[in-house]
Amino acid sequence: MIPQRMPLAHLPTPMEPLKYFKDPAYPTLYIKRDDLTGMEFSGNKIRKLEYALQEALDLGCDTLITCGGIQSNHCRATAAAGAKLGLETILLLRSDTPQPPQGNHLLGLLLGAKIVWVSSEEYAKERRQRMGAIAKELEEKGHKGYILPEGASNAIGTFGYFHAFEEILAQEKELGIRFDTIVCPVGSGGTYSGLVFGNAYHRAERKILGVNIAADADHFKEITMQIHTEFQERLGEPLPLKKEDLYILDGYAGRGYALNTPQEMAFFHDFAKKSGLFLDPVYTGKAMRGLLTALQEGDALLKDAENILFIHTGGLFGLFAKAEEFGF
Ligand SMILES: *Cc1c(COP(=O)(O)O)cnc(C)c1O
Repeated sequence: MIPQRMPLAHLPTPMEPLKYFKDPAYPTLYIKRDDLTGMEFSGNKIRKLEYALQEALDLGCDTLITCGGIQSNHCRATAAAGAKLGLETILLLRSDTPQPPQGNHLLGLLLGAKIVWVSSEEYAKERRQRMGAIAKELEEKGHKGYILPEGASNAIGTFGYFHAFEEILAQEKELGIRFDTIVCPVGSGGTYSGLVFGNAYHRAERKILGVNIAADADHFKEITMQIHTEFQERLGEPLPLKKEDLYILDGYAGRGYALNTPQEMAFFHDFAKKSGLFLDPVYTGKAMRGLLTALQEGDALLKDAENILFIHTGGLFGLFAKAEEFGF
């Protein structure tokens, strides 16, 4: 069964042509502005929260517990939704050095989230146990915690982009266009998985192409298959999907999660000047760079593409933490 959705995001988000290449030999490019799902809520995470937080309320929870990096968009969106719904939010944030509040970290504080700092090592090894311990402590005090995994990329969260896929199908009809290829960044895997499941469910036969911004293609194909197992249980029916049918454009993660090279920074700057659009340094910047480079290099994954839709998953507040790296 498809779970109930709590409307929080501004939907549907616009889809607009992206005029980047002058040469008409390139495929048509469109961009879906999921950076416009809201202001405090902006980005892809609020679509996942529409499903997860409905579940939290149905279960009678009064506190949201989640985790992420210091500039986590997911943590900021969760804190915003928590404040709006009158729930407490506790964020397990990863950082090895104290940093002055800025970007998403600052916004999380403004929204009243309680922050628990953990080192990268603790985060990697025991974030689930730490969140479980927080929930247990709350329970002893008569409260009820709802734990969201990193990026809300579990089966319930994945319904957010399952729903977004249906939104795209409806918008295509209005625009009179069929996107053969839909591209998104892959960070914790929930956005990509939701689109893949939507495509399979509707037998829409599109190529859903993820661009990994950390780790490698195989890692995320594995994660997608794991979420798929849990997703089928939620759905209550089989949803045929093979690992061989998953497409991930690898090679653009650069120095790793939330780390950038001067070439990447120069690309984000150049892209803003050419298109009038901001990309974020952690996700959409790397993914767009991957897509455009792959098109220029004639990558086999895009050889049949005629109409491409890129999902702008947001993340703009993360730009502020990178001001120095632009070298202005
Ligand atoms: C989290 C995030 C992503 C990655 O989405 P996942 O569902 O975690 O793979 C992409 N873009 C932005 C801006 C994000 O915050």
